[in-house]
Amino acid sequence: MPELPDVAVYRKLLDATSLQRTIEQVSFSDSRILRGVSVRKFSDLLKGNRFERSLQHGKNLLVELSGGSPHVWLHFGMTGALHYLEKHEKEPAYTRCVFTFSGGDRLAVIDQRLLGKIGVVESPESFSREKGLGPHALGEEMNAERFIRILSGRKGMIKTALMNQSVIAGIGNIYADEILYQASIHPESDVRRLDEATLRDLHTVMKRVLRTAVEKGADAEKLPRDFLMPNRRAGTKCPRCRGSIEKIRVHGRGTYLCPRCQKRE
Ligand SMILES: [Zn+2]
Repeated sequence: MPELPDVAVYRKLLDATSLQRTIEQVSFSDSRILRGVSVRKFSDLLKGNRFERSLQHGKNLLVELSGGSPHVWLHFGMTGALHYLEKHEKEPAYTRCVFTFSGGDRLAVIDQRLLGKIGVVESPESFSREKGLGPHALGEEMNAERFIRILSGRKGMIKTALMNQSVIAGIGNIYADEILYQASIHPESDVRRLDEATLRDLHTVMKRVLRTAVEKGADAEKLPRDFLMPNRRAGTKCPRCRGSIEKIRVHGRGTYLCPRCQKRE
């Protein structure tokens, strides 16, 4: 499921290939991915226009159009991705939407399970407000003070808080596990029991894990060896203590941890 680092990879791809190019055509092989706007209106808005620049907020990608507002909104659901195709390249399976640029190259939105969304939003600010999104996890505004303020005194488990998009935007099931593993915190720890020093450390770890994942192209195989992600199987050895990785469920989500390294607070 695409989380902040995966969306950052799609953003890089879009920035490297698709900015400042005239959009000649927009086509849908399945328009259910389009939300809140008709195919006709969406196409009219984009045709002859260009993607000016992109912006990421959590798991959302917003793309400003050359004609000013509105922005195109992309959310990748469970299985969404972007692919760039040169003129003669065949579209991959599960292509749902294709932006064709003058010259014939295309940007394709792929989504097998069709839980992703494409839409139109007035501005990044109004979008974040309407969706009730917390600060972008890698945003400058998400400094240690803000992180501590947001989490202190919250009820419930730390993993649930990290995954709550209205608290912090961008972290999902897999990176929540990674961050808590790297910070040696048990995912079921009560947030109220984490003191300020622990939260400060968790903030540093969150930034480091997400930045590392973005640098490595969100590819689990390329992550450092002491990361949990390449070892997400019950019974594999913890890369740190060689103990056994365990799988539990936290709020219904499969959660991996090392019970020896991650103590419950
Ligand atoms: Zn361990």
